[in-house]
Amino acid sequence: FMTKINKLVMSGFKSFADKTELVFGDTVNCVLGPNGNGKSNILDALCFVLGRASSKSLRAEKTSHLIFDGGKKKKPAEKGQVDIYFDNSSKIFPIESSDVKVSRIIKKNGQSIYKINDKTHTRNEVLDLLSAARIDPNGYNIILQGDITRFVEMSPLDRRKIVEEISGISVYEERRHQAVLELEKVEQKLNDAEIILKERKTHLNELKKDRDQALKFKELKEGIDSNKATFLHIQLNRKEEVQQKLDSDIAALQEKLKKAENQVNDYKKLIHEKKEGIEDINKEIEQKGEVEQVKLSKEIENARVQLEKQKARVVMVKDAIAKIKQRKQGLEKNTKDIEQQIEEIEARKKSLEKQKETKEKELAGVVQQIGSFKKKNKIDALGDIEKDIETVDKAVEKKQEEIQKMRQQQQELLREKDRLEYQLQMIDEQVQKVAQVEKENKSQMADLKKKKEQFASITATLNKCLDADSSLAVDMADVRKSLHALEEERAKLQARQVSTQERVGGGIAIKKIIALKKPGIYGTIAELGKVTKKYSLALEIAAGSRLQSIVVQDDKIAADCIKYLRQNKFGAATFIPLNKIKSPQVREETKALKKQPGVHDFCVDIVTFDKKFQKAFDYVFADTLVVDDIDVARRIGIGTARMVTLQGDLTDHSGVMRGGYHHKSISSFAEPDVENELYETERKLGTFSSTLSRLTKEKASNEERIMQLRREKLELEGEVVRLEKTLHLGSADLDATKQQKGELASHLEKVNGKLGEIESAVRALSMDLAKEKSTKEQL
Ligand code: ATP
Ligand code: MG
Repeated sequence: FMTKINKLVMSGFKSFADKTELVFGDTVNCVLGPNGNGKSNILDALCFVLGRASSKSLRAEKTSHLIFDGGKKKKPAEKGQVDIYFDNSSKIFPIESSDVKVSRIIKKNGQSIYKINDKTHTRNEVLDLLSAARIDPNGYNIILQGDITRFVEMSPLDRRKIVEEISGISVYEERRHQAVLELEKVEQKLNDAEIILKERKTHLNELKKDRDQALKFKELKEGIDSNKATFLHIQLNRKEEVQQKLDSDIAALQEKLKKAENQVNDYKKLIHEKKEGIEDINKEIEQKGEVEQVKLSKEIENARVQLEKQKARVVMVKDAIAKIKQRKQGLEKNTKDIEQQIEEIEARKKSLEKQKETKEKELAGVVQQIGSFKKKNKIDALGDIEKDIETVDKAVEKKQEEIQKMRQQQQELLREKDRLEYQLQMIDEQVQKVAQVEKENKSQMADLKKKKEQFASITATLNKCLDADSSLAVDMADVRKSLHALEEERAKLQARQVSTQERVGGGIAIKKIIALKKPGIYGTIAELGKVTKKYSLALEIAAGSRLQSIVVQDDKIAADCIKYLRQNKFGAATFIPLNKIKSPQVREETKALKKQPGVHDFCVDIVTFDKKFQKAFDYVFADTLVVDDIDVARRIGIGTARMVTLQGDLTDHSGVMRGGYHHKSISSFAEPDVENELYETERKLGTFSSTLSRLTKEKASNEERIMQLRREKLELEGEVVRLEKTLHLGSADLDATKQQKGELASHLEKVNGKLGEIESAVRALSMDLAKEKSTKEQL
């Protein structure tokens, strides 16, 4: 039984670009054509569909080369397909249809698809189907070009194999071999099964033992359960009795509890009310307290300053009063002198007025005379003559004035002459008297002279001392004034220092720790850092709450302090142990910002502190910069660095900005200005007070000296007076000397000479005057 190929259809396969149908006849079919026009390709198409796997056997390098490659002119095909239509009228294939279409499609990637009657199947399914019709792609259904040559040249053994194959024996050989292999496999499986069965049996025995034991256990357990149940029942009854009793007790107690709870609630309400009251009061106290405290501290400060001022003023006023008294005495004396002078001047005024009266009378007489003279001589009409007379009059007047002056001088000189003559006479008398007394009482005279000399020297010394006293008094007043000013300044500074210290001190916990005064507790950051007033607000903001952190030597001391605070319930404080604290690194970019305009410096470089606290201050301020204002901060860039302005605005690394108005005028840091000023003021006070005490001492000793000198002077005066009396001498007698006499005499001579000159001058002037008068008369 064989089948036959009805039709072969190729498209895109090898040289068959377009769909090509070959319909085979019932007997022998023959294909003719020139070399290379595709006869062998038809056989390749058959082998291709029947499932030859190797492309080599289809005369192609790769499977994809089986697809039409376009030749010289055409486009290459996408895929190659070959369909074989087998005749199935004898039902050689186990399929109902009268013919079977077997197809294979090859794609460019080399993938093959097999189809039976247009339904996709695997290669093996196709091979199975074909083998049913005893078609083998590698068998000898198809004899290819060259196969015959090979068959002829083959060894007899190979040839026999081919014959066997063709005759179908090889198929059975194959199947036998397969069956033997399967038999071996089954035997193996049987052995395995027996081994497993054995194992199962032993396992079953063990399970049976377990089951028996379990059954026994179950039986025993049931017994235990029933016993337990009876036991529990008995106990339950007993417990129920107890419970009933307890229930009644509980009911009684609950009633009591309820009462107590009611009471508690009442108390709670009361407490709540009281707490609210206390809170209100606290709020009020806080509000009032804060404002009043600030006000009071200010008032106290002012009062202190005022007190010092008033004290200084009292001393100054006392000084001033003493001076005024002194001046008053001086002025009183002056007044007396002036009154005397006034009297003298008034007497002179009267005499001058009298003189003026007589002169006016004389003038009136002369005018009258001139009037009558004019009438007599009818001069009124003669203008020229009058003019001449006038000039003559003027000359006369001038001459008269000169004469008058001369006369006055003459008078003065005469008076001087008289005075000198009188003095000369007196001196002569005194000298004579003294000479006489000297003759009579030589020793007493010498004594008197000595006493007088002593008196003179004491008087001179006394005058010097008095001068010194007044200059000392002036100096002392000056020093006192400076002292009071300094004391006032000191009081102000002290008040400021006290209030700063109170602020710097911080809360109770910090105060308690500082009060311990243990070595290794150095103080708060605020106490340890000193800042000038200009930067105090900025640095305070920069430090924030760290300002009140306490710097300690090491973590052990910090731990001790914390324990101490807890045990005594003094509150909490922050500690910076110098051995553990880590100071942050400052980046180079941030360091460079220092040179930008408007940037002052790093906080940590502005505040001054002992170098051993460097790490603590580094930690507190980190890389915070002080800048002029918020605009500078923005120019540098918010978030570039931590910055604080002089007005106390802060910008953080995060970009957070904080600021506004800070109601604060006094620093939280210790102020070096105040301390330095206070120190300087105290130093000045010291030097001034020592100067004052030195001056006071000097003045006292000077005053003593003055008293002493006055006493001595008085004594000497008394003695001189007494001696002079016993010697019948006036106080001036002894001072009269020959030298004095000589001086007076020469003075007298000079006066006499001048007098002579003036007299001759007066004479000459009088003569001139007479001449002028006669000219006038002529006129
Ligand atoms: P001969 O009489 O010499 O045996 P023949 O008629 O059997 O010749 P074939 O060997 O069947 O000729 O055909 C070879 C031809 O098929 C060649 O011209 C070759 O170019 C062409 N050919 C082979 N593979 C392809 C392909 N993938 N696409 C296009 N043409 C192909
Ligand atoms: Mg050929």
